[in-house]
Amino acid sequence: MELRNCRRCGRPFLYAGIPFCPDCQDEDERLFQTLKDYLYDHPQASLGEIVRETGIAYETIVRFLREGRLELTGGEPPLHCERCGAAIPTGRLCGGCTALLEREISRGLASAPRSPAGGAPVSSREGRMYTYRSGPAPKGQAKPGR
Ligand SMILES: [Zn+2]
Ligand SMILES: [Zn+2]
Repeated sequence: MELRNCRRCGRPFLYAGIPFCPDCQDEDERLFQTLKDYLYDHPQASLGEIVRETGIAYETIVRFLREGRLELTGGEPPLHCERCGAAIPTGRLCGGCTALLEREISRGLASAPRSPAGGAPVSSREGRMYTYRSGPAPKGQAKPGR
């Protein structure tokens, strides 16, 4: 247990995995219920309409969406996939990237310490070297002066 300042009201509290103090957690829960009720009555509402009608801050709604507690079916999805940047209605990854990630995990690739960013350039460089060697190299071999 450690003492932290609430991300919302700034008061110190005993941190237990949630960055908000108990009071703000109650408030959070209240806002969440309000949003849920509103979306129940207006399932096609866009984010702008929800902010206008409920008075709940845009950031708060987006946080609920990102946590996967809420899903918007109407309007532009306000979130973006953390992997490919596609617009998504809820959570952190789009359906395609979630499936991809799950497949990688089931294959055991996720446990291997190989980053996808480091792997791609190496393989493309190898491919280029192969084509240079197999084909005629106009600049490298044709030396002027003989
Ligand atoms: Zn607080
Ligand atoms: Zn994606």
